[in-house]
Amino acid sequence: MRVLVTGGAGFIGTNLVRRLLSEGHYVICVDNLITGKKENIEDLLDKENFVFFEQDINEPTDYGDVDWIFHLASIGSVYHYLNHPVETLKTGGIGTINMLEYAKEKNARILFSSTSEVYGDPEVHPQNEDYRGNVSSIGPRSCYDESKRYAEALMMAYHRKYNVDTRIARIFNTYGPYMDPDDRRVLPNFISQGLKGEPMTIYGDGSQTRSYCYVDDTVEGLMRLMETDYHLPVNIGNPEEYTILETAEIVCEVMGIEKNFVFMPLPEDDPMRRRPDITRAKEILGWEPGVKFRDGLKETIKWFQKRLQ
Ligand code: UDP
Repeated sequence: MRVLVTGGAGFIGTNLVRRLLSEGHYVICVDNLITGKKENIEDLLDKENFVFFEQDINEPTDYGDVDWIFHLASIGSVYHYLNHPVETLKTGGIGTINMLEYAKEKNARILFSSTSEVYGDPEVHPQNEDYRGNVSSIGPRSCYDESKRYAEALMMAYHRKYNVDTRIARIFNTYGPYMDPDDRRVLPNFISQGLKGEPMTIYGDGSQTRSYCYVDDTVEGLMRLMETDYHLPVNIGNPEEYTILETAEIVCEVMGIEKNFVFMPLPEDDPMRRRPDITRAKEILGWEPGVKFRDGLKETIKWFQKRLQ
């Protein structure tokens, strides 16, 4: 297959690109490097079945014929999208339209990486795909949440109107190698702080929850979704749920360090609970995560140690 991966130098993109290459596909990787990192894919640049374009998908371009498009390009970390709200909205809107037009023209299958943020601060727990969400259209996070909701609407519109072969993955919190240690998300922060001997920054009282999926499991879920004929959204996440305080404690335990926490204000509109209902993924994809949190953390910590050296 000729596979286009937008956001291919980002965290999930890099892991997906490597998986695709290992299966013998030809990979066209596109990234504007706002948050993606060239160093993530540097070792792939001289491979015959890999090509990288430093490009913004908001500008229409032609990558030749493609069979599959994994449209992952987006600023994913709260800290970064708050600093780039307009780029975030543009990529969800214009970038997604460009990719859908491309898929339509080339008759390619296209998977969009949506997010658990489409559920906002959920009133339903755990969140299944039929839940319509509790999202502010004007809050600070709205640039991300609404760009992803709009992009989902675009995917469905192109599917219904033009019969484009679409897939929508709603990805929950993901972690693992190739995550940017400085991206300010909770696990990169805690691990980097632990490695530097700094206190871990807990926002609020740490009672809010998240559920973390190891990236290899996420990539497996994306591959299975791409290979399945299903057009409605599918949650891809790990249903094991932890409070942020428990998360910090587990990171300390796995790192073998003393607990050292500092409490800071809770960001505005921070969702209080998040946990995927993955019944649909189990039924339709035969998929569920296999990597235990402590095992995934060990791998991630090892990788962070290497990257930070
Ligand atoms: N968080 C925290 N300390 C940090 C970074 C994040 O307590 O140093 C909290 C944050 O308030 C949120 C959760 O961890 O409740 C997950 O935040 P993250 O930015 O990783 O992703 P989100 O799920 O909010 O998009």
